[in-house]
This record gives sequence, C-alpha cells and structure tokens, in this order.
Amino acid sequence: MELIKDIDRMRTYIERIEEGKIIGFVPTMGGLHKGHLSLIRKGRGDSDVLVVSIFVNPAQFGPEEDFESYPQDLERDVKLCKQEDVDVVFAPSREEMYPDDYFTFVEVEGYLTSTLEGDSRPGHFRGVTTILTKLFNIVSPDRSYFGEKDYQQVLVVKKLVNELNLDTQIIVLPIVRENDGLALSSRNSYFDEKEREAATILYKSLKKAKEWTIGGEKDPARIIHKMKELIEKEPLAEIDYIAIVGPNSMEKVQSIEGEVLIILAVKIGKVRLIDNMRVKRSMCQS
Ligand code: AMP
Repeated sequence: MELIKDIDRMRTYIERIEEGKIIGFVPTMGGLHKGHLSLIRKGRGDSDVLVVSIFVNPAQFGPEEDFESYPQDLERDVKLCKQEDVDVVFAPSREEMYPDDYFTFVEVEGYLTSTLEGDSRPGHFRGVTTILTKLFNIVSPDRSYFGEKDYQQVLVVKKLVNELNLDTQIIVLPIVRENDGLALSSRNSYFDEKEREAATILYKSLKKAKEWTIGGEKDPARIIHKMKELIEKEPLAEIDYIAIVGPNSMEKVQSIEGEVLIILAVKIGKVRLIDNMRVKRSMCQS
C-alpha cells in the first residue's frame, strides 16, 4: 500500500494505471471506524485499484465547530487501510488543498443545500462539494462510495456529479451501527461514558417513530412531537432538528404515505450527532 501526500504524485499514480482498470474511491476525514470500513470493503471488492482519501476538510466546518479538535490519527488509519488491502491512502496537507491564495468554490444551490444540515451549518455543503470536486479531479474514480449516515450529503453529491457531468458513479451503503443502535461516527470518540449512553436516544427515537408509523400514524407532526418528548427526557440531549421528509426531495411531507425519511440532528453535551431512518408504510395499511 502507498501513502501519498501530494497531489502531483497522486495524479502520476492514477495516470500509470492501465486503461480499463476500475478505480474505486472512498473519501473520508479519517478517524476510521466500522462505517468507513464497510465502504472500503465494498470498494475493495468492486475495484482493481482502491483509493481512500483522508483529509479533514476545513471548508466544511463552521467557525464555531470542531475542526481543530476533530479526531486525527493518520498512523492508525493507514494501518487499518493496509489491513483492508487498500492500494493508496491519499492524505494531502491543508496547504496543498487550500493554499493561502485559494478562492475557488463549488456550490449546489437551492433547497437541497439550504434545508436541514444546510440550514444548521451554513456553508457546510459548499465545503463538501468543493473538496469532492477537487478529489474527483485528482483521483478520477470510476466509482465513489458514500454512507447513508450522511443522507442529505448523498443527495447533494449525486446532484453535483449529475449537474457538473462528473464521470464517477456514486455507490451508497447503509448506516453501520453499534450493537445498541448508535450510528458509528468519528465524533463518538469525544464521549464520556454518560454521554455515550445518552447518545443512544437518537436511534431509540427513530425506532419508536418507525413503530408509530407502521402502527398507522400518518401525521408527521404527531410523530415529531412524540420523538421530541422522548428525546427531551434525556437531560444531556438538545434537539437541533427533527424532520420527516421525502427520501429524494428532502421536502417535508404533510402525510406519511409510501416511503419517508425520518432525519434528526441532536447535540449530546457538546457533540452534534446526525442520524436517519427510512420508513415505508405498506400501501395496504389504511
Ligand atoms: P466522514 O469521514 O465522516 O466524512 O465519512 C466518510 C464517509 O463514511 C461518508 O460517506 C459517510 O457517510 C460514511 N460514514 C460515516 N459513518 C458511517 C456509518 N456509521 N455507516 C456508514 N457509512 C458511514
């Protein structure tokens, strides 16, 4: 396995790959966990050459967010990638990706990037789409792997790739969870024992919402209200948003028919977590 830290070397590596070989790509911010590993394993199985990038992207963090403290351990991540038979870890420096005189950004405009995460984290998706455009240009992947954990991000990335005619296929994989349901996240490493326990409230509330929906509740407002009540019982939790939306549009639904996405962001202590669950009411339910 190669660890490549500069863009020119990464490009040269890609240029030397034989025509027709499939390049798979897993972009990450490091702090690798089982969620990342599921993408890496799928990518490994599908590709001739698998590239994993590790770059904590300052452009997608707000000024009050945790960029400075974001968990980083390149040595550990590289070791994990080696074990997963990754071909290249691309870990560029901040200076390489964003030199001091850097002024070019790529933005998906409109509702999709201004609702939910876009509303809570202004500029976040602009940072995501900018870094991904740069990485796609450097790595030229045939296939790129993303997790449903960042559900809205997946829709934004698909739109970016489609509308800018970028030549990579977006493969989306399900959320990997701990045994108690907590979605794996690099940020889980911030938790003390109490917070870690409290963090299970996101999954618990999603599961309950699914039960209520399948039980026949069609009114999103009532489900959201009951989720709020449940989460508010947890003293360490502070709700940012809870929404029930169309799984492709991210627009709030008036009534639950067919498939919807229940999505939420909750702070546990200082740590902001996101999670989601797709719920399908079978058409034969009244
Ligand atoms: P990050 O390092 O947080 O930027 O995540 C890199 C990729 O891993 C993104 O496509 C995430 O959606 C995906 N990912 C993160 N956590 C999980 C998880 N628990 N299950 C599946 N995919 C995940």
